[in-house]
Amino acid sequence: MTARPASLGAPRIEIDLDKITHNARLLVGRLAPKGISVTGVTKAALGAPEVAEAMRRGGVRAIGDSRVENIETMRASAVPGPMTLIRAPMPSQVDRVIEAVDLSFNTEAVVIEALSESAGRHDRSHEIVLMVELGDLREGVLPADVVDLVRHTQRCPHIVLAGLGTNLACRSGVVPDRHNMSELSRLVEMVEATCDLELRVVSGGNSANLEWALQTDDTGRINDLRLGESIVLGCEPLHRRPLEGLHTDAFVLVAEVIESKRKPVQPWGEIAQAAFGEQAPRVGTGEVAQSLLAIGRQDVDPDGLVAPLGCQILGASSDHLIIETGDTICPVGTEVRFAMNYAALVRAMTSPFVAKVFSRPYPAMRLA
Ligand SMILES: *Cc1c(COP(=O)(O)O)cnc(C)c1O
Repeated sequence: MTARPASLGAPRIEIDLDKITHNARLLVGRLAPKGISVTGVTKAALGAPEVAEAMRRGGVRAIGDSRVENIETMRASAVPGPMTLIRAPMPSQVDRVIEAVDLSFNTEAVVIEALSESAGRHDRSHEIVLMVELGDLREGVLPADVVDLVRHTQRCPHIVLAGLGTNLACRSGVVPDRHNMSELSRLVEMVEATCDLELRVVSGGNSANLEWALQTDDTGRINDLRLGESIVLGCEPLHRRPLEGLHTDAFVLVAEVIESKRKPVQPWGEIAQAAFGEQAPRVGTGEVAQSLLAIGRQDVDPDGLVAPLGCQILGASSDHLIIETGDTICPVGTEVRFAMNYAALVRAMTSPFVAKVFSRPYPAMRLA
């Protein structure tokens, strides 16, 4: 907890760009000997150009985001590409995808046709990666249907098939391992042989693939990973363990105290649902030093916040976060700093009520 700096508003996220660069550089350096490059994924940072550039300074080969809006923002700020759309395009957005994106991930023939038509109208070509379903049951064409979709793609005149990719661990928590990764390599070789082409990109997965990639001696045909959480939060998403040597505090949430009082632990009156449903019964008796912070579920996932030492999160509604502050009563106006997990970060970055403050000015960027 700190006294309020005069110049900064709250709530805010303080973003340390040098820590993001450091994290990206370490991961890029560890994966390079394995023959794997990194696409830096910016969606958790709402496509903030500053964050994208910090990743690029750390050596990521390309930028990836799941939303074309974010890619448009980065383009408008002249963030160096290539820009990858890592979620399949909405049919209603194909023109925007063609204009802003170099390479998109796809799974549906009709969308690929629409992209080809739009690319033709814009007098350009568009690269795609076909996503393959390997068990997590989110996006991807089933392995048995890959060749058909490749052949379909080959008939689309303005589409260039760059490669294959897969995504695990996001919906069902399926762990990337040597079985599903060698299945991807096998599919790549089967497609190359069957369809007489060469695939430049084999995008093996996300931060959940790091454990596999860093431990294996044989990465097969996988030559790129799309890393978001591991760069921005310095941890791997399978067990949420910090990665050695990486910063876990590049993003810090700061909120301001608007009420501080000693209050009973137990509520009184008849108890029904609270604003966000049933509340677990409170344990304990007596009084606690309780502070209200001007931030709530509309801005952040309170379950994903880590309170400072000596403080404990008691609850939250749309616009209030309630913390217990131990022996101290925090003066109104005090700022409280929180670490965030991925869920908390994503929501806080998306809230228009949370200011984003970068640790250093946004430098003009040049890549050799
Ligand atoms: C979000 C996402 C990523 C990045 O995942 P992290 O776990 O943050 O590294 C990669 N690929 C796809 C398709 C995604 O949707």
